[in-house]
Amino acid sequence: MRTIGNLSDQLGGLRGKAILVRSDLNVPMDGARITDDGRIRASIPTLTRLRDAGARVVVCAHLGRPKGAPDPQYSLAPVGARLAELLQAPVALASDTVGPDARRLVEQAGPGDVVLLENLRFNAGETSKDDAERGAFADQLAQLADGYVSDGFGVVHRKQASVYDVAQRLPHAAGGLVVTEVDVLRKLTVAPQRPYVVVLGGSKVSDKLGVIENLLASADRILIGGGMVFTFLAAQGHEVGASLLERDQLDTVRGYLATAEQRGVEIVLPTDVVAAEAFAADAAHDVVGVDAIPPDRMGLDIGPDSSAAFAAKLKDAATVFWNGPMGVFEMAPYREGTRALAQALLDGNAFTVVGGGDSAAAVRALGFDEDAFGHISTGGGASLEYLEGRTLPGLSVLES
Ligand code: ADP
Ligand code: MG
Repeated sequence: MRTIGNLSDQLGGLRGKAILVRSDLNVPMDGARITDDGRIRASIPTLTRLRDAGARVVVCAHLGRPKGAPDPQYSLAPVGARLAELLQAPVALASDTVGPDARRLVEQAGPGDVVLLENLRFNAGETSKDDAERGAFADQLAQLADGYVSDGFGVVHRKQASVYDVAQRLPHAAGGLVVTEVDVLRKLTVAPQRPYVVVLGGSKVSDKLGVIENLLASADRILIGGGMVFTFLAAQGHEVGASLLERDQLDTVRGYLATAEQRGVEIVLPTDVVAAEAFAADAAHDVVGVDAIPPDRMGLDIGPDSSAAFAAKLKDAATVFWNGPMGVFEMAPYREGTRALAQALLDGNAFTVVGGGDSAAAVRALGFDEDAFGHISTGGGASLEYLEGRTLPGLSVLES
């Protein structure tokens, strides 16, 4: 992958050059309040490096899912304010993405200045499936700059205008964040230190099943919790009540269990869960065995016996990849499984990679020191697709 150093050589230095940077600033919000600024902080080193080199830094990013037109609810204004605090420098927010205001601010910017374009997804071209429509938007983005740096690891699995098409139109490079993330994930795919233990949870079950197939060829042990576990428990014949269940995946999951057995990959499922009357913090809830989940209850966390068993299965691990919370950590009664898991990882000596927006947010929300983990990835979907062995459009486009 081409680096910022290569780009600088190609452009004859970065001083005074307008460099478009695709960052991932898609942070969780509560109204206009940022509830977790991890992704903004992760974007700082590359922006600082470019500023120090005298580039005119033009940052672009998306926030939430606006419908291809300006929508004040999804303005990047709060993100720009936080970015300015972290950079300790002014950030000029354009009121449009590729319109007159953006062009004016980029023109006015001097070496080291930072301009933030408004939400990329205010333009239908950003996420369009139509190559021409995406390309037309990428043309406009490319006109703003002399070079392009891809630093939004959380979006490199997307074939979108600001991630993919614009790199075809400008001299380009991978930013430091993308380089670091890829280096770490490569360690997990090429000769990981063993035992290599993978912990999977969260709620995007069908999204994540694909990665299991690939992990069955590389991991020594897979621990499964979170919402995804109920499809596994059901595949083994347990009644899972009102828990999250993907019936159409039961055969696939049975296949995984069989493959795991053939290959000697140990799959560890919980033996107890916290079963609640409703998806609510104040719902009645009890710890029950996985063979005794009442029909009207839903499992919202792994139970204490399972947490202890998972911790034991992590003790000898040399490498751990963790994606997906063990329970609904956003609600106090269902966060203990995730807490216990994070603690077990910190107590061990393994090289630990935490991937996934919610998993990373859970680590911070539970008060753990994120620096104590080997690596906290900013990209959930992107890290999983990498581990699945898929080609990520936003990475392959940087190769050429
Ligand atoms: P990540 O962002 O780390 O990849 P996901 O987005 O797949 O993780 O899943 C995170 C969500 O999974 C959290 O919001 C959490 O509340 C939810 N979750 C975890 N366990 C359960 C469960 N048993 N039932 C329903 N939702 C769950
Ligand atoms: Mg998520």
